[in-house]
Amino acid sequence: MEERKPPKKSLIYYYGIALVILIILNAFVFPSLMDKQIKEVDYNTFLNDVQSGNIEQVVLDTDQITFSIKDKDGNVQLYKTGIWPDENLVNRLHDAGVKFSAEIPVQNSPILEFILSWVIPIGIFFILSQFMMKTVSKKMGSGFGGNSMMFGKSDAKIYVKAQTGKRFKDVAGQDEAKEALQEIVDFLHDPNKYSQIGAKMPKGALLVGPPGTGKTLLAQAVAGEADVPFFSISGSEFVQMFVGMGAAKVRDLFKQANEKAPCIVFIDEIDTIGKKRDNGGIGGGNDEREQTLNQLLTEMDGFDGCKGVVILAATNRPDSLDKALLRPGRFDRRIPVELPDLTGREAILKVHAKNVKIDSNVDFNAIARATAGASGAELANIINEGALRAVRLGRSVVTQEDLEESVEVIIAGYQRKGSAITKKDKEIIAYHEIGHALVAAKQSNSAPVHKITIIPRTSGALGYTMQIDENERVLMSKDEILSKIATFTGGRAAEELIFNSITSGASNDIEQATKLARAMITRYGMSKDFDMVALETLSNQYLGGDTSLACSPETATAIDREVIATVRAAHEKAIEILRENYDKLHELAAYLLEKETITGEEFMNILNA
Ligand code: ADP
Ligand code: MG
Ligand code: ZN
Repeated sequence: MEERKPPKKSLIYYYGIALVILIILNAFVFPSLMDKQIKEVDYNTFLNDVQSGNIEQVVLDTDQITFSIKDKDGNVQLYKTGIWPDENLVNRLHDAGVKFSAEIPVQNSPILEFILSWVIPIGIFFILSQFMMKTVSKKMGSGFGGNSMMFGKSDAKIYVKAQTGKRFKDVAGQDEAKEALQEIVDFLHDPNKYSQIGAKMPKGALLVGPPGTGKTLLAQAVAGEADVPFFSISGSEFVQMFVGMGAAKVRDLFKQANEKAPCIVFIDEIDTIGKKRDNGGIGGGNDEREQTLNQLLTEMDGFDGCKGVVILAATNRPDSLDKALLRPGRFDRRIPVELPDLTGREAILKVHAKNVKIDSNVDFNAIARATAGASGAELANIINEGALRAVRLGRSVVTQEDLEESVEVIIAGYQRKGSAITKKDKEIIAYHEIGHALVAAKQSNSAPVHKITIIPRTSGALGYTMQIDENERVLMSKDEILSKIATFTGGRAAEELIFNSITSGASNDIEQATKLARAMITRYGMSKDFDMVALETLSNQYLGGDTSLACSPETATAIDREVIATVRAAHEKAIEILRENYDKLHELAAYLLEKETITGEEFMNILNA
């Protein structure tokens, strides 16, 4: 995308230049001009000149003596010398027959003095700065971008349609979103077709989805497909240091957009300005945001929908948006941009693989299966990591192994090979991981083990057991959740069984198991006591999934008790499974300890041997 940005030279820059010029004039030019006229000589020379009768005229000042000498050609040269306590000077001058006079200090009128020393300099300064302002703003076009000396101008970037612009084909998967946006593209191609029938295009569409799913990319692709200018600004850019700036930016943005119609205005992260207005708001902190939001609403209501300005916005927190934004005539169309499914992930991997040299027999499907829940951005990152690894290892193409490794890099952090871990710790980690894997494998409804490793990651994980579902799963049965919880407890169970002591290594497992057990009871309606009652609500579906309790304190206590019971039951089940497979646990742990990383296949071979 070609991006025009105004040059960011402030006024200070121009004042600086003027100052430097002045200093140079002062230091070099003026004194030399003066020197040409009056030469300084010492008092002795002056006396000699007086005696030899060369001097034509002398002017006695309070602090210096100026005198003139006429040479043979008749040119007059001025000289000066310092004053000397010479009582005989007047006599000498008189004797030598030199014309002399004393300087009478000029007595300026106070008004004249005031004008000279104040009015004129200030006037000159003012005229100069006016002149500079004019030249500067002419140079910068529409305004002072990014200059805090000038308020009320927007620095919305203008993305002029560019050859490098994104197209729909750059967005893999997301077919439903693309379909919904296709209509907008058609409209931008030919707004008249719609206005003839009297159909009104929606003024705005809201792209809603978790981070990294390609919302920004989709908006850019719409502009690319429709071949129209693309005005893009992020919500956070509206919220500025100065109150009133945001609103002015909105005004300016829409003014520009109206001039360039048909075009697309894209407001990224609209939740930063579009947050609900009612809650909170003590102090002036929210005033600026509110003003900006109000201006946005006003502008959206004000402009003519037939003209061909389409406003797209993106957010990953739709629930936090002010209702006023979602009313008809504003962002009344909502386009979900969800995390990619298995086929979507494979397609995204392939799109990004086009940009790198990749081995022809790479199995993208396998990578896609190993990355359930990954966003488009993460998948793009996996390809890039794979390419980086290939370069590191001096290869010219990216292989399956590179990609599998980068899946782990992205999901579990970088490998920290060679970091100091005692033999004893390593042994514990090996048993812990095999514990997870064994408990998973011995329960009928858990995902098969794909890979087990005891090479630590920078993410803090000391080992890692990777399970991969054969198929994409959207629903989980109660049994599956229970066996998942049991699998989480499997690591700790193995430690207890073998070493008869427990370590801190299970903290993440504990967290995950608790989360699942809790969700079963409070959100999935899978407990006998509470039936299908929502005890907890998800306050933000996309970011972290914060939950808030919605029940009485007594119920909360009961929930806690049931969560504990659920996890304890799963833990006991895990211990039982491991006890039944005690020999295999030893055999597999020894194998893992030796190899450090084993595949699911190797694992199953030993287990079933
Ligand atoms: P969002 O705005 O939803 O947070 P972005 O549009 O910024 O996400 O996506 C970040 C990057 O992830 C994109 O530049 C692109 O490289 C990659 N990406 C995300 N989704 C897709 C997709 N569906 N197809 C291809 N690339 C994608
Ligand atoms: Mg984005
Ligand atoms: Zn574990």
